[in-house]
Amino acid sequence: MRAILTPGVLPATDQAKAASILRACVHCGFCNATCPTYQVLGDELDGPRGRIYLMKSLLEGGEVSATTQTHLDRCLGCRACETTCPSGVQYNRLLELVRPRVDARVPRTAPTRLKRWLLRKLIPYPTRFGTLLAVGRIVRGFLPAAFRRYIPAASSARYQAQPVARPRANYVLFEGCVQERAAPQINRAAAQILSDMQITLQRVGGAGCCGALPLHLGAMDEAEACARRNIDAWTPFLEGEMAATGVFCASSGCTQVMKDYGHLLRHDPTYASRASRMSALICDAGEVIDAESIRGLCLPESDRGAIAFQAPCSLQHGLKGHLPVNEALRAAGYRLLPVAESHLCCGSAGSYSLLQPAIATALRSRKLAALSNGAPEAIASANIGCLLYLQQTASVPVRHWLELVADAIAADAGIHRTQ
Ligand code: SF4
Ligand code: SF4
Repeated sequence: MRAILTPGVLPATDQAKAASILRACVHCGFCNATCPTYQVLGDELDGPRGRIYLMKSLLEGGEVSATTQTHLDRCLGCRACETTCPSGVQYNRLLELVRPRVDARVPRTAPTRLKRWLLRKLIPYPTRFGTLLAVGRIVRGFLPAAFRRYIPAASSARYQAQPVARPRANYVLFEGCVQERAAPQINRAAAQILSDMQITLQRVGGAGCCGALPLHLGAMDEAEACARRNIDAWTPFLEGEMAATGVFCASSGCTQVMKDYGHLLRHDPTYASRASRMSALICDAGEVIDAESIRGLCLPESDRGAIAFQAPCSLQHGLKGHLPVNEALRAAGYRLLPVAESHLCCGSAGSYSLLQPAIATALRSRKLAALSNGAPEAIASANIGCLLYLQQTASVPVRHWLELVADAIAADAGIHRTQ
């Protein structure tokens, strides 16, 4: 695609990057076939090719309108288009560069600004989010069903450090914001599995949200502040003779963002190189707990039931890591059912389900129909956002894959440790 960008719209280095992304696109439209919003809405401007045209127009100095903003807002950021694109177009990089420019030129209505501000100020802060959740659980019975769904049931599980006599590796635990408050059983399951593998997890104070939510909302300063805070909190534990092996993260959406800290802080002279080093030390659960390490536990062969695995977009399109998780679940004794349209987003996508509820609901219904097709006993996920969103209307339990692996290990020990 021919692109002559107007100087000054982006910083010079980003301008060169945007131009190379635009030039890589050959307008073939293959990406529309796997774009969830194009599949639901059928509008060229709600597919990746159309959005690339809209972004190109802005970068070439063209008009930007509320229509441009609407079509970009409807993008889930799922990156299915990148997986499909034969020319390797880095769609998401372009979106990250352009979204804040559109928001700067097209003012949103006051109620929308308030909604987005509340999301940014409540969800990424564990104490605020935890308080909101606690209040929600108290008044749950008085709320209409549509609101009740948003409040996950409480779990009595609490994270417990597991003693390991001679650890062969040691990871700093990424606790994040939503997962630890809404589903503490996930990190508890991770600690139990890892201790059986002679790996310890270390909790470190001072860290928090990975920055995904402000990033999705185009609040780049807030996303960068999250990255700097986490880098400052973890660096002392990742340097020197006693350095931990890396940072362990059980939520693929957060892993994807943190593995990109080097890019996020590329313009910060103080943090750029530290952020790149940190990105290299971020490990998704599936990289640490793989099929081989599960087989190393010598679990007796057993059929633990049929499950459907929902491969989150962050895992399959962002990290390209869904196949190892499939294998890990099989190694733990689960039968994985085939899932149609597994490349399509479930509609959760950070705060998307709250900001674009109609499209998100259509995608969730489609996803749950595909996941339920073979009558699974449970649905497994790898990302807290997808898990909570699917759980709202699923007819079978939706659990993190680490909980299922922990159950398989515990079943052999004759106990149930994750409930
Ligand atoms: S598949 Fe790639 S090259 Fe083809 S239109 Fe989509 S982004 Fe452009
Ligand atoms: S990121 Fe997802 S929703 Fe957005 S254009 Fe690409 S495939 Fe479509």
